[in-house]
Amino acid sequence: MLRDFKQEIKNLETRHLRRQLRIMESPSDTTITIEGRRFISMASNNYLGLANHPAVSRAAIEAIEQWGVGAGAARLMSGTMTPHHQLEWDLAKFKQVEAALTFGTGYTTNLGLIPALIDRNGLILADRYCHASLIEACRLAKATLRVFHHNDAEHLEKLLKKREKARSTLVVTEGVFSMDGDLAPLPDLLALCRQHDATLVIDDAHGTGVMGKNGQGTVEHFGLNPRDAIQMGTLSKAIGASGGYVAGTTAFKDYLINTAKAFIYTTAQPPAIAAAASAAIRIIQDEPARRERLRTNQNALHAALTDLSFQLTDTQSPILPIIVKSPERAVEMSQALYEAGIYVPAIRPPTVPKHSSRLRLTVSSEHTQEQLENAVRSLQKAGTALRVI
Ligand SMILES: *Cc1c(COP(=O)(O)O)cnc(C)c1O
Repeated sequence: MLRDFKQEIKNLETRHLRRQLRIMESPSDTTITIEGRRFISMASNNYLGLANHPAVSRAAIEAIEQWGVGAGAARLMSGTMTPHHQLEWDLAKFKQVEAALTFGTGYTTNLGLIPALIDRNGLILADRYCHASLIEACRLAKATLRVFHHNDAEHLEKLLKKREKARSTLVVTEGVFSMDGDLAPLPDLLALCRQHDATLVIDDAHGTGVMGKNGQGTVEHFGLNPRDAIQMGTLSKAIGASGGYVAGTTAFKDYLINTAKAFIYTTAQPPAIAAAASAAIRIIQDEPARRERLRTNQNALHAALTDLSFQLTDTQSPILPIIVKSPERAVEMSQALYEAGIYVPAIRPPTVPKHSSRLRLTVSSEHTQEQLENAVRSLQKAGTALRVI
């Protein structure tokens, strides 16, 4: 018997956990159109405004004219075109590693990466707040999965000490946590991995382009050697395109090409998207001012929200989550802001733990001071009316 879908949705609705799609009637930008109305968007991971940047769009258009739309085949068949090759070259240089391999999305990158690193005999120790794609990837690998408390190196050390010696071990974390905006203590995690002969895997989806002096990510931010960990990231957030990548050695790239099912058995990313990602990486490297504007906006919004005594997470990134605890509250706040012309989604379980529903605000380098002030005024009004502050 199939489930009663209508009833399941009703159950979600009564618990304030039903989610619905909203149709954007405009490109990803600091202002967006929904239902014919303009909103200030605080809801995109387009941190550097590259998803709708004229030079990035132009690169895609020119590549479509040259290469057409679809790649026509999987990468190992006839789907690898010059733009894919160029992008992997650009990514390797950007991340300061020997080689990079791209996948269709960040999600499938994790599905391909983790099972290539470990099998059912291995042990995976993952941060409790790891992204759903990492957890799914760990399950797919069939290794034993243990979870350590969020950003708790001491707990990780305990688990490492408890394991059987010689068991191959991965430690999996995000660089910047997607729903909390805080950073993993990478130097501590790396030291533990060294001491206990484990391999550190960093999902830098939200660090890529954003963290570090040159935007290389959290590894650069902490001054670590990119060769000491396996890094993956996405081309869909600060890079503004679509797809995912793994950064590592040439040998590892070769191994993934030969073993990662999420790479082998899927059609190559459209060449125009690869070309767009390359153009975006060039802008990230050539325009550090974008990152500076992003930092300025992040700090300004953080200070304003703290002044209003909103309860924020321990964030150090452009992700500024306001914790409101109950899903009902989160939905009410989101709705009140919607009515005021500010678009901020309510994030609820199972995306975040129970009793930690939140408004996840994100800033971009392209938000104006006026837009941020406008958003803060509306947040103050809604927060006061709903007794969040
Ligand atoms: C967004 C995200 C992904 C998935 O990337 P997509 O390119 O959107 O598929 C993976 N890991 C983390 C931590 C993310 O935030």
